[in-house]
Amino acid sequence: MFQQKQCPCCGDDSQIQYGAIIAPFIQDYIAIPKNKKTTKLIQCKLCGHRYFEDRFDDNEMEQLYSGYRDERYFQIRRKNEPWYSSGVNTSNLDPNIINKRQEGLKNFLIPFLTQDTENLIVADIGGDAGQFIPLEMVNKAYVVEASAQIPVEGVVRVASINEIPEPVNLVMCAHVLEHIPTPEKFISEIITSTNLSPACVFYFEVPLERFNISPLLKSKGYQKYLQAIVPFRWITIGFDFFSVLSRSYLNAVFPPLIMKLHEHLNYYTTHSLSELMYQSGLEVVEVIEERASNLSTHQGVIRLIARKNVS
Ligand SMILES: [Zn+2]
Repeated sequence: MFQQKQCPCCGDDSQIQYGAIIAPFIQDYIAIPKNKKTTKLIQCKLCGHRYFEDRFDDNEMEQLYSGYRDERYFQIRRKNEPWYSSGVNTSNLDPNIINKRQEGLKNFLIPFLTQDTENLIVADIGGDAGQFIPLEMVNKAYVVEASAQIPVEGVVRVASINEIPEPVNLVMCAHVLEHIPTPEKFISEIITSTNLSPACVFYFEVPLERFNISPLLKSKGYQKYLQAIVPFRWITIGFDFFSVLSRSYLNAVFPPLIMKLHEHLNYYTTHSLSELMYQSGLEVVEVIEERASNLSTHQGVIRLIARKNVS
């Protein structure tokens, strides 16, 4: 793991630090130093972004995502989070969820497209099997995935944007940036791909996870409390369970509840996501916060449209 001391979105270092733990699942699933059990959740005072101080290095990212949600992943996650169900594990394949994601995307995106949909060449970055691409609105669809994922019908998998044999005019990247340790580098690599059309539209979507954090989590006493409980697996798992409930239903974390570094390293706001775009060389065309009451894991989504900075 490596540490991020400045805001990964705006670069500022004025911050509030809250005590947090490394999720027991993460400690079990990938090889991280055995003594690394606590961390900090940092809130940037300038753009409001929240991010964990500890980040996964390339090797740990590979371990975490190469067998993502396969049987071993499920078993180890279930052992550490007994409430984690097989339904949630396979939710990316649920036709209802796929349909809702596609509809939400289309409603927001279509007014911003610079091309007729019959000319649209889309690249979905980190898009799993490409199941979230609304195929009826595009001419050709590519999913950019490093894993050996078999794409859904109508979608071609490539390992990088540069392998796509025609100019891409829509890049989409949904529910990926919250997992990325160095998001500015990640976006810079996307936008410097050689075969993007100059008028390429960029669509980003991230979960909205903005819960209230008690100021008590900033205290030294709270950090001591975390260090006292983390050696005891079942106690940590118990507090984790009530913390998940509290985040979902009370939208709040307060002692003795805990925040954990899991797969999401970044909690964006419309402001911090916009800052990230500017820092990476993109210009924001539109950004919205869309709340949804039917989601238990997050409160809604942030949608953002960007284009290459022309100035
Ligand atoms: Zn910031």
